[in-house]
Amino acid sequence: MLNAEERTEILKHGRPDTTWEGEPKLGGIYDEDEIEAAVSIMRRAADIRQGFGFSGYPIPEFEQAFAEYTGAAHGVAVNSAGPGLDMTMKYLNLEPGDEVIVQAINFVAAPLAVMGAGGQVVWAEVDSKTLQLDPEDVEQRITPRTRAILPVHMNGLAAPMDELLEIARRHPHPVHGPLPVIGDAARATGAEYKGGKIGQHGSATVFSLHTMKNICTLGEGGMITTNDKQFADYCRSTRFYGFLTDSWGTSNVMTTVQAAVGLVQLKKLDAFVEARRRLALERHKLLEGVEELELPLEPADRKHTYYLYTVLVKKDWAGEKRDKIIEIMADKFNIKCIIANPPCYQARKVLREHTEGQTLPRSDEIGARLLCVPIHPAMLDEDNAYISAALIETVGMVKTL
Ligand SMILES: *Cc1c(COP(=O)(O)O)cnc(C)c1O
Repeated sequence: MLNAEERTEILKHGRPDTTWEGEPKLGGIYDEDEIEAAVSIMRRAADIRQGFGFSGYPIPEFEQAFAEYTGAAHGVAVNSAGPGLDMTMKYLNLEPGDEVIVQAINFVAAPLAVMGAGGQVVWAEVDSKTLQLDPEDVEQRITPRTRAILPVHMNGLAAPMDELLEIARRHPHPVHGPLPVIGDAARATGAEYKGGKIGQHGSATVFSLHTMKNICTLGEGGMITTNDKQFADYCRSTRFYGFLTDSWGTSNVMTTVQAAVGLVQLKKLDAFVEARRRLALERHKLLEGVEELELPLEPADRKHTYYLYTVLVKKDWAGEKRDKIIEIMADKFNIKCIIANPPCYQARKVLREHTEGQTLPRSDEIGARLLCVPIHPAMLDEDNAYISAALIETVGMVKTL
């Protein structure tokens, strides 16, 4: 941990030039390579015989490169992770009353996808050390109506996939068989689980290529990976009006310009993740020993992307004191921390009403204890040190309140 003298020295140099936000608006780094890639496809498209195509070059190339990167057999590019999650839920053909288990500490996309496909959201608790879906809790919530388990690789760390897949096998649906495990890896592009990249496990995995995520395709975009050809064909067909399988569909396509940029970003992904990891590991050292804070945990069998650097305040600091930390960090140090994420039923009335009567004491508690401290691959070591020193000072101030 940084001692008082070191903190004074670091803070003396003043605030970083960058106003660091908990979730910076551009999660990766863009330079001339991305601009050139985009422009080259635009020039190509200016030929009236060519245009922007129907999911043509370089979309299949991007899908293949992404699938190969993750170790999955198939990749299907889409316009955003949200529609990707919608497709995976629609593929299940849910009937009214069919249940999908989703963690409550989550972004709203996954539960909304369950609702949108006509299913019933069943909340589950997360492990308070990792913020990942808790397999034991999931097992207790399985009923004969359970159709799928939908873990999110929360904040960039992999969910405990083997345990979840084992539970899914142990509790087959009476008609549909073993429960599909479908991952939301919006924050976990580049993450690893037991030596393999996220995207190769379970029935399917949905990635986000939105502007804030680890890599992005011009601000919006997503990718579905799967080893199941039928699942991939369904998504590929639904992505464009159901032409391939003569079924229902709509338009959720990625543009060729985005795919060209995606190919460039994908090559840089490992470097972005490494930069985040280096900063996170350094920050652990600067902060470890601050009794009021629990630092993000990376189990030995996983590689965290540190999309978010999530800290839990000690239990009796839940709520007001946690909020005070965020306030002082912003007002006094110009460091913007965020709460990602409170339980979805707190964040959105529509989800609260949909899941009325379900109570999750652990999620309530974690939601009142967590905060995310800015991290980004372009962050300078000085800024990382400043943020760490500011956080220790802030904890000291809150202690005296
Ligand atoms: C960002 C995010 C999404 C949605 O991604 P889009 O590509 O913007 O649709 C879904 N789930 C999680 C966990 C996210 O962080």
